[in-house]
This record gives sequence, structure tokens and C-alpha cells, in this order.
Amino acid sequence: MFNSKYIQIRQKVNIIGSGIGGLSSAIRLASKGYEVTIFEKNNYPGGKLSEMHLGEFRFDKGPSLLTMPELITELSKLSPIETEFKYKKLETITHYFYEDGTNLKAFADINAFAKEVSIHLNEEESAVVKHLKKSKFYFESTADLFLHQSLHLIKNFINTKTLKGIFKLPQLGIFRTMHQQNSKTFKNQKTIQLFNRYATYNGSDPYKAPALLNIIPHLEFGQGAYIPEKGMHQITEHLVKLCENTGVQFRFNEQVETILLKNEKAIGIKSNGTNYFCDVVISDADIHTVYKKLLPQKYYPKKLLNQEKSSSAYVFYWGIKKEFKELGLHNILFSDNYKKEFEILFGKDAPYDDPTIYINITSKHCKEDAPEGSENWFVMVNVPHNENAEIPYKDTIRKNVITKINRILKTKIQDFIIEEQTLDPISIEQQTSSYGGSLYGNSSNNKFSAFLRHANFSSKIKSLYFVGGSVHPGGGIPLCLLSAKITSELISKREY
Ligand SMILES: Cc1cc2nc3c(=O)[nH]c(=O)nc-3n(C[C@H](O)[C@H](O)[C@H](O)COP(=O)(O)OP(=O)(O)OC[C@H]3O[C@@H](n4cnc5c(N)ncnc54)[C@H](O)[C@@H]3O)c2cc1C
Repeated sequence: MFNSKYIQIRQKVNIIGSGIGGLSSAIRLASKGYEVTIFEKNNYPGGKLSEMHLGEFRFDKGPSLLTMPELITELSKLSPIETEFKYKKLETITHYFYEDGTNLKAFADINAFAKEVSIHLNEEESAVVKHLKKSKFYFESTADLFLHQSLHLIKNFINTKTLKGIFKLPQLGIFRTMHQQNSKTFKNQKTIQLFNRYATYNGSDPYKAPALLNIIPHLEFGQGAYIPEKGMHQITEHLVKLCENTGVQFRFNEQVETILLKNEKAIGIKSNGTNYFCDVVISDADIHTVYKKLLPQKYYPKKLLNQEKSSSAYVFYWGIKKEFKELGLHNILFSDNYKKEFEILFGKDAPYDDPTIYINITSKHCKEDAPEGSENWFVMVNVPHNENAEIPYKDTIRKNVITKINRILKTKIQDFIIEEQTLDPISIEQQTSSYGGSLYGNSSNNKFSAFLRHANFSSKIKSLYFVGGSVHPGGGIPLCLLSAKITSELISKREY
């Protein structure tokens, strides 16, 4: 005879999307005994964190910088089978190039970096060290408030840690912009530009975003910048392996059409005409797309979703038949007028014709990513998100990028390109469902943007949860991993 005390019915969770948020929620819940299935519209996992091959070259398609790898190690520990995630710390994080010929390296060692800035930009070493110490203070004062818990549960605001964080906000510069604060700290416009650039890490504008975003440099310099041994796509491969180890089921080529509801409760999803019932639905798809396409119109949170979107990207994947010794893994070729660049990007919804260019070359570390004597260039410029059917600047952007690279690196890059493919806001939306191709959901250009992201759960529909870059705590790999942690804790504690 069965003893009813020992019969446990496994709760079923259906997850829409296999981006970082979807995969990591799946691992967390499956390791707690939930029966988890991921429905992914593509025939591959990873969403923005995927890879591709062009001839003999391999490319990471999206993210290129890894910070807070301990969040991945934390997931590895949930696996019943030991599965190691191998990565290395970067000694040199970024190579910076300016129009007037100035260039410098951002070393991971704070004192070495401060010295480099003082040599090349005539800045006090102590100003750099102080700025990075402040960045650490920002991080430590706000991480518990903004990153590790839901900001949408009253009970989370009545503990001492949270209250301390809230009381520190005015002191942390919520009422100043990042640019205003950096201009007070540094005297050289180039140093200001270098530190302003961190606003772009979540697709924002340093001339509008709050100084609170100055926590980001601490992630690179204080905690470290890393690269997985085989490139960024190894993160997706590792998480998929952990999913398999914990018993997660994958269903690829399944475009979820509807979230099934009954009495204001999510009871499943419908994909390719079939209903799949479950106890909990988690969406890793862009929140805008969820409300527009998967839920009835009456739930659409207009005010929240009509906020300014983060920027998108135009990427050239180039196989280059030459090695450039002056470049490293991460390289920035700055525009001459940063303020103007952001005015055009966010004010005129157009790319700037002298854009800041980011070049990522994984073959500098992962030799098998390009044939001998060659390099795999991921060349990215920030562009606005795009809600139209066409990209109006398609023809000019390649010309502008090539002209600038040739000017700064004194080369003729077009002669060395032997493979090419591009990614633009429209293809980003087609491949990942991100609204208008914006990389990080809403921008952080508003002082209160951290409080204005969508919650990790629906307040109107029971058993419906959200993870990924368009919801709390935000975009980028570490924050997506944290969204999964917050959400799976809410689900397992039944807090909604
Ligand atoms: C070019 C580029 C550069 C970037 N650089 C960095 C970087 O250096 N560092 C960093 O930390 N971050 C970076 N990011 C951002 C980072 O990639 C994202 O924040 C993160 O990967 C988003 O993960 P996610 O969980 O939100 O899911 P996403 O990657 O957005 O994936 C969502 C998944 O859901 C699926 N889906 C959507 N709708 C449906 C549906 N109806 N049915 C079934 N499946 C569906 C999609 O196909 C997709 O697989 C970059 C992004 C891009 C595009």
C-alpha cells in the first residue's frame, strides 16, 4: 500500500525561451525537483548567446564580455554530475584608441591601470584609484537592494539591508548623471569618455543615465573580466549540459503562440497548435513581445512598456586574413565627439557617422577560432532600436566603420576581409524576439529606471513569471543569471 505521506506530485514548469535566463531558471528549478520543459522557437539554444561559423572562422554572435562567473559556478554546483566550467581572468581588459592617436590599455590591476591613465591622459593616478574605490562602494551599497531580490515585494523593503541601500541612494548620485559625476572626478575629456562608456554596457546614454551606473567599472576592475576557455558560447553549452544533468527537457522549433489562462492564472502554453499544461509558466522572451503577442491585450502595461528602449547593435563578423599585434581581445575605437554620438543615437534615433567602434577578437585567446595568421573580428557599433521594417542606414554604416578603422589603425581593412556576415536590429528581433532589436529591454536613461523594470512575476496573472534581460534586475549575462535566481526562489517559496 502507498503511504500518501510519501507521494509527491512533481510540479510542472514550462519555460518560454532558452536564453541565459531560461536555461539558468531551468537548472535551478529542476535541481529542486520540478519537472521542467523549455520551449524554444529556434533550432538551437542560447538566444543572444549563440555562435556561428563562417568558413574556417568561429564567432560568438552576441555577448563578448564575461563578468561575475561565480554565478555560473553556483549553477554547476546544482548538477548531480560534476561538470566544470573553465574560464580565465584577463590581465588586460580593453585596448582604447582615440582619434588623435592616443591609445592605452586598461589593465586589470588597478594600480597599473591608474599609472597607464596618468601617463597617456595626464590624470592623477589617485583620481582613478579613488573612482574605482567609489565604484566598489556603489556596488556594495546597492547590490542587495537592486540585484539579489525582487524589487516588487513590499516585504523586501522592510529589512535593514534594503533600507540602508535606499537611504544611501542620494549619496550615490541617483540625482546626477554618470557624465556629470565623471566630469567632476576627471579633468581630461578622454578619461571622462572612457568611464562614460560603461553606460553602454546596458544600452544607455551616459549623459542621461544616473551616476549609479558607475557601479559597472567595479565589476571589471574589482571583480574581474573573464573569457571562457572556448569563447562565450561555452557558457550556453555549459548551461545546456547542466540542464541535461538535472533532467530538463528541451523542445526546439516550438514558437509559443499563447500563454494559456484560466481564472487569471497561467495554466500552460500553446505551441504549434498544441496545448502544454503545467503549474507554472516562466517567460524568458522579451517582456514587450510577451504582452504584445502571448497575452490578451487587457494585461498590456502601457506605461511600463512605453519607456525608452536600450540601444541595439549593428555587428559585422569578419574573417580577417591578417594579424593585428596592436589589438587585444576587447578594443574600442572612440568617436571624437561622444556627446554628439549619444544625441544622435537617442535623440534622432540614428547611428552617428563617426561611431565608437568595438572590436572583439576571440582568436587572440582561443586560437582555434581562426586559421593561422588570421583573426575573427566581431565589429560592433551602437545603433538605435528599430521598429520599422527597414534599416535606413544599411549602406552607409559599413563605409563609415571601414573608414574609421582605416584611419585609426592605419590600414586598409577591406583588403583583408575574406568572410563577412552582419547582424542588425531587425535580425536581432527575428532571432531572439527582442523588441526592435534592443539589447537590454528598457534603457537606464531614467533616474528611477531600476525601479521601473518589469517585475519577475505577474501581479495580475497567478503562476506567471519572467526572467531575462528585459525584466528585473536588467540586461547582460550576470543580471540575467540573477533574474533566474530571484525568480526560481519566488517560485519555490511560492512568493507571489
Ligand atoms: C550583439 C550583442 C552584444 C552583447 N554584448 C554583451 C556583453 O558583452 N556582455 C553581456 O553581459 N551581455 C551582452 N549582451 C546582452 C546579452 O546577450 C543578453 O542580455 C542576454 O543574453 C539575454 O538573455 P535572455 O535570458 O534575456 O534571453 P535572450 O538571449 O533574449 O533569448 C530569448 C530566447 O527566447 C526565445 N523566444 C522568444 N520568444 C519565444 C516564443 N514565443 N516561443 C519560444 N521561444 C521564444 C528566443 O528565440 C531566444 O532564444 C549582448 C547582446 C547582443 C545581441
